[in-house]
Amino acid sequence: MSETIKGFCLHGKEKITPASTIPVTSNTSVVAMEIPALQEGEILAKTLFTGICGSDNSASLGKSNFDWVQRPRIIGHEFSAEVLELGPGNHGDLKVGDIFTPLAMLGCQKEDCPACSVSKWNLCASKEIIGFHRNGGFGQQVVLESDRVVLLMDGLTPEQGALVEPLSVVVNALHNKANIKPGQDVVVTGCGIIGLMSAELARAAGARVAITGIAHDRDKRLKKAKEQGFITIEVSPENSLSDQLKKGIVDAKGIPFGTKNGQVDLVIECSGVPPVLTEAISVVKPEGDICVIATYPKEVAINATHLTRTSLNMRGSMGSCRDDYMVAQKLMATGVFPSEAYINQYSFEDITQAFEDSIKANNVKAVIKMN
Ligand SMILES: [Zn+2]
Ligand SMILES: [Zn+2]
Repeated sequence: MSETIKGFCLHGKEKITPASTIPVTSNTSVVAMEIPALQEGEILAKTLFTGICGSDNSASLGKSNFDWVQRPRIIGHEFSAEVLELGPGNHGDLKVGDIFTPLAMLGCQKEDCPACSVSKWNLCASKEIIGFHRNGGFGQQVVLESDRVVLLMDGLTPEQGALVEPLSVVVNALHNKANIKPGQDVVVTGCGIIGLMSAELARAAGARVAITGIAHDRDKRLKKAKEQGFITIEVSPENSLSDQLKKGIVDAKGIPFGTKNGQVDLVIECSGVPPVLTEAISVVKPEGDICVIATYPKEVAINATHLTRTSLNMRGSMGSCRDDYMVAQKLMATGVFPSEAYINQYSFEDITQAFEDSIKANNVKAVIKMN
């Protein structure tokens, strides 16, 4: 192959904060890539569409919760791709030309692994995430294990294929961890794509949903949430979520949201901002639920006595499994999750701009057309 294959590479580790004067993409660049020889069980694929994840942004900004990622690394774990070549070994029914999305997390698959022995690769202590532990979907070609391939379901476009992984994370959280019931009032904290997807799936499960954001989100992500019919709550240190719920929030029909004292049934935490989780505990009803999908750059203070005295259920939810991918695909193919409302497509030539827009929250969900 004579043409150069390119990839978007994380090479630096410098901590970039809002106060920094260097560009937010200083730790990354577009590079020419070498494709390694295929090992046993590996395949070569041409990437089609790849989504930018909040974790890609955090790694690009040098946040400490991504210090462990080896540099240089072609990042990207949310993608669709087409099989170009099968390496040595058995690949089952997989064939050249198949279109798939990979499981982001590959477990050790050892019989004595408590997670892998029950097919929960997402909870394996030695799991490997594509795009962090090995080169990923922001390369125009990618080498990966055929074990992690999930074929795209009929009726799903390759562009939607790039959203299967993030939607599967929300499927896992809402189906297995959130204890969501029809008629509940749910607050989603954070209006990044995981927050917006959580809002859609919570509503699909019969809940009434409010979603929070900050002033910067007003013209983009909160506006999108409002267009999609959700109650939106702009929060700030001076105008907190709990204060606004206590003062009273109403839905589009004027019906009060939450209880008279400003509490809700469930909070789904998607912001990754420590004080947001600290506050979440105070806005949930006794015996209510908090589902945490975000991760945090430092430890979070929690009023554990209040947690006990109100018998709250607080659960974390990590990644997703193959079953969740199948549900996520179905939710998009059948239109339950309206993916077209949330995608901002960029060409590969504009990938650095796409990262800049995503890091600055100036888009909703960036998906790159890779080739
Ligand atoms: Zn992700
Ligand atoms: Zn394992």
